[in-house]
Amino acid sequence: MTAPLDSAPGRLTIDLAALADNYSTLARRVAPARCAAVVKADAYGIGLERAVAAFWAAGARAFFVAHLGEGVLARNLLPEEAEIYVLNGLEGDADPADYGAHRLKPAIGSPEEFSRWTAFAARRGRPSPCALHLDTGMRRLGFDSLAALTIAMERDGAASGADLLMSHFVSSEIPDDPLNAIQIARFAAARAAFPHLRASFANSSAIFLPQRPIHDLARPGYALYGGNPTPGRPNPMRPVATLTVAVQQTRWIEAGVPCGYNARWTAKRRTRLATLLAGYADGLPRAAGATDEQPGAEVLLAGRRCPLVGRVSMDLVIADVTDVPEAAVRPGDRAELFGAGIEIDDFAARSGTIGYRLLTSLGRRYRRTYVGGQASS
Ligand SMILES: *Cc1c(COP(=O)(O)O)cnc(C)c1O
Repeated sequence: MTAPLDSAPGRLTIDLAALADNYSTLARRVAPARCAAVVKADAYGIGLERAVAAFWAAGARAFFVAHLGEGVLARNLLPEEAEIYVLNGLEGDADPADYGAHRLKPAIGSPEEFSRWTAFAARRGRPSPCALHLDTGMRRLGFDSLAALTIAMERDGAASGADLLMSHFVSSEIPDDPLNAIQIARFAAARAAFPHLRASFANSSAIFLPQRPIHDLARPGYALYGGNPTPGRPNPMRPVATLTVAVQQTRWIEAGVPCGYNARWTAKRRTRLATLLAGYADGLPRAAGATDEQPGAEVLLAGRRCPLVGRVSMDLVIADVTDVPEAAVRPGDRAELFGAGIEIDDFAARSGTIGYRLLTSLGRRYRRTYVGGQASS
């Protein structure tokens, strides 16, 4: 959804060339394995339609969504040959026939889901592909154990149409977390038990683990959208989303004067403030602004990093621009919140959240522009 007027003060620019490049970078890195694209949550907030077109053009043939409804949307956007997996599996009381009708493959994660799926496949009388999700440590989705998965497969494996064995990492962005090795060993055992299935284990960060637990099909999301899969090290990905917001007012306040709701930040010196036209209704974390106790995020104005100060309001946020030459910050000038100049992971961490959350919370009032596409707009 875009704002009704071109003059929207918040502008979100999505670089489709960077998106395609990020896909290619990961695809090269995982070769000879294949690289899928995770496009759940409207492609991490950047827009499903543009994202799947860019990934398809870059060579992606397998896609992962979270929900059945997202799968239906993706199916309508993608060519016939695209494989689409639904990570949440047969969700709630959904009818397996709805997956079958759109050629969506649920990631089956329990004996109960397995029975519903095989019963559907039997009624239908033809192979109905799905993935099998094994829990190796997340305790969230998936068969509890290899034993439980083996029992189900011995009972009805052929009827299930399973073509992929998958699991998900708990802490792959922390390379020395001992849980990585435990999960890798559990998944290797499962893979050995079902050698005829393709295997998929690696999310963005796992692609960069020294053990290279890639198997047949990597499953990155965040890194495709420019997030850093290797926190604390240089980001190997190109930034995809750039958010700039216009300055509405500037003012000087004296030392000792607070600003924003509940007066949570107080100027320590004579300070020049710039009020920017975006707030938490646009997806900015409420804690992005510094308080007297805690630092906040920084934005780029006239080439300098300026801290956000005071609580973020619904529609506004305040930046401390004291260190920028006065003539360089005027109403109508634009601040970059994240993009080429400020990493989304940096903005998120200083706001007490993660880049995943920032992207998937991007507001609807921004003017969205897609650049770098084959038919850019
Ligand atoms: C979201 C998700 C991914 C992608 O993870 P990233 O960290 O964004 O690369 C892969 N697999 C599963 C099961 C997921 O839920």
